[in-house]
Amino acid sequence: MMFGKKEITFENFLSGIPARDYIFQKTPYEEQIRQAAKMIKDADYVLIGAGAGMSAAAGAIYGGEWFEENFADFRAKYGDGPYMQDMYSAGFYPYPSEEAYWGYWSKQCMKAGIEADHTPLHKTLLSLLDGKRIFCLSTNADGQFEKAGLPVDKIFCTQGDYFHIQCAKGCHQRRYDAVDLFHQMDAARNECLIPSELVPKCPVCGGRMNMNLRIDHRFVQDEEWYEAEKRFGDFLSEAINSGKKICLLELGVGFNTPTIIRFPFEKLMREHEQISLVRLNLNEAVIPESFGTRAVGINADMKKSIEDIFRLA
Ligand SMILES: [Zn+2]
Repeated sequence: MMFGKKEITFENFLSGIPARDYIFQKTPYEEQIRQAAKMIKDADYVLIGAGAGMSAAAGAIYGGEWFEENFADFRAKYGDGPYMQDMYSAGFYPYPSEEAYWGYWSKQCMKAGIEADHTPLHKTLLSLLDGKRIFCLSTNADGQFEKAGLPVDKIFCTQGDYFHIQCAKGCHQRRYDAVDLFHQMDAARNECLIPSELVPKCPVCGGRMNMNLRIDHRFVQDEEWYEAEKRFGDFLSEAINSGKKICLLELGVGFNTPTIIRFPFEKLMREHEQISLVRLNLNEAVIPESFGTRAVGINADMKKSIEDIFRLA
């Protein structure tokens, strides 16, 4: 019996700590798929936590031959050293000018965000959850959940995205839609550089702009970010206070930034009996042993896992 309503905020959600009793569960794959399908089926609320592994499983490619082909001109210009291996590393290249910086980033945003369509798996997932109350907490910048049809008010992208820019110094808390600008840059790019007249300047301090991606403390969180944060807290508070079953569906969240989804999900599990956890991950689907049968960690190709769960549900 609970007295008084609990209010869960994103801030107190984030206070999870690492588990000490991780195991790879020994249950056979088919049985795990059945368990996961049942946890989702039984739940009234499903909170999706999506990390980089979800985009990768859905088909997003960052490196390898794909990068070599699509970024051949950048490799030729900047060398094939440690930076020019994939879209993640290339973002850290010390570009010598703003024309060079935006020359690269406009291309990455076109390829990984604006033109990207890796939504079939996202759509399968959403149809699996049809009829549930759902919310998606995502660290992915590619916008694929929204493209797949999940309403924007059910998504909280905590780390920024490929569609917005901000003042590099973060002198004011506003981000700017850059989709049109990136289209223009993409059309005008010459020898990996964009024309100087397309270089954006901060409308407040006149300084340079950056991607609105969380790389340091200057990351801008504007009103929309705080509204999404509030909707996330409201969803979780409502779900917990309802006393109904909640399934945490964790997709491709590794140990790079476990403090945003993985550890907080585990904390929720420890605190609320009504919650179950489905953790899908290619290599890192370890589960705290103490969770027992309330959690299932499926260590396999996530695309296959999602499709198999979908078939059973
Ligand atoms: Zn500024």
